[in-house]
Amino acid sequence: MRLLIGSLLLLTLTVKAQKRMVITIDDLPTVSTFYKTPLEKQQLTQKLLAHVTYAHAPAIGFVISGLLQSANRPDTAQLALLQQWLDAGLELGNHTFAHKDYNLIPFSESKADVIQGESIVKNFVKKQGKPFHYFRHPYLRKGDTMAKKDSLEHFLRQWGYREAPVTIDNSDWVYARAYDNALKVHDATLLAQVGQSYVSYMLNCVAYYEAQSMALFNRPMAQVLLIHANSINADFLGKLLGELKNRGYSFITLDEALKDEAYQSADTYTGKGGISWLHRWALTKGKKGEFFKGEPEVPATIDELANRQ
Ligand SMILES: [Zn+2]
Repeated sequence: MRLLIGSLLLLTLTVKAQKRMVITIDDLPTVSTFYKTPLEKQQLTQKLLAHVTYAHAPAIGFVISGLLQSANRPDTAQLALLQQWLDAGLELGNHTFAHKDYNLIPFSESKADVIQGESIVKNFVKKQGKPFHYFRHPYLRKGDTMAKKDSLEHFLRQWGYREAPVTIDNSDWVYARAYDNALKVHDATLLAQVGQSYVSYMLNCVAYYEAQSMALFNRPMAQVLLIHANSINADFLGKLLGELKNRGYSFITLDEALKDEAYQSADTYTGKGGISWLHRWALTKGKKGEFFKGEPEVPATIDELANRQ
C-alpha cells in the first residue's frame, strides 16, 4: 500500500512537472492610459520586468515600432525601455509598425506594416547580438480568406520570421483598462479588487485551455500565454506567475515551447476572430459548438469600469 501511495505521489509529481508555459507580452514598449510620461513608462517597465525576472520566466516581448518614433525620429526614451528588456536577458519580436487589423486591409498593406515594423527595432536588437525572428499578428488576425492567410504565411517565412502562436488567449487588456481607470481615481480598494479578480480570471483561462489541450491532444501541451505590457500586469503579474508555479508550471522560451509537436497541427481557419491556436486546430479537425463551451468571461463589473470615461 505504501509503495502504491509512493508511486501515485511520484506520478502526480511527474504530471505536475510536465506543465510548461511561455510568457509572451504584446504591445511594447508600454500600453496604458495612466502611465504616460517617460518616467511613468519606465516605472511600468521596471515593475513588469521585476516580476518576470523573479519568476525566472524567459519571456518574449512584441514591439509596435510605430511607438518608437516621435516627429519621424527615433524616440530615445522609448528605446531606453526596450533596452531594459534586453538587459533583463529577454527576447524581442516584431508586432508591426502600426498594429493594423488584417481583416480590414489587403495583404500588400499588411506586408508593408510588417517590414516597416522592423524600422529602428531590428537594428537596435541585432546590434547587441540578440535574435529578432518572431512575429506576432496584431489582434491575432492571420487572414480572413485562405488566399490572405497563405500570402502572409509565405511572406513571413520568406522574410525569415517564425509566427508566434497563442494558445491561452484572454482579455487582460479589458482588465488593464479597468485598472487604469481605478488608478486615475486613486481608489486602493478598487485596485485590489480588480487585481484579485484579474488573477482568478487568468487562472480560469489557463484551466480552460489546459482542458482544451487534453480534449484535443490528450496531454498537457506546452502553452503560450498572451498578455500585454500594461498597468495591471505591472502590479499583478508576479502574483499570477506565482500561482502558475503553484499549479505546476515551469516557464520556458518560445523556441522551447514550439518544439511541442502540437504546433505542427494543421490550421485551415480563416474566420474573422483572432482566436487561440488551440481553437484553430480544433475547428480544422471539425470540432463543433460543444467543444468550445465554457471559455471564461470578464465579469460585467470589470467591463463597466473599463468603459467608464
Ligand atoms: Zn497587439
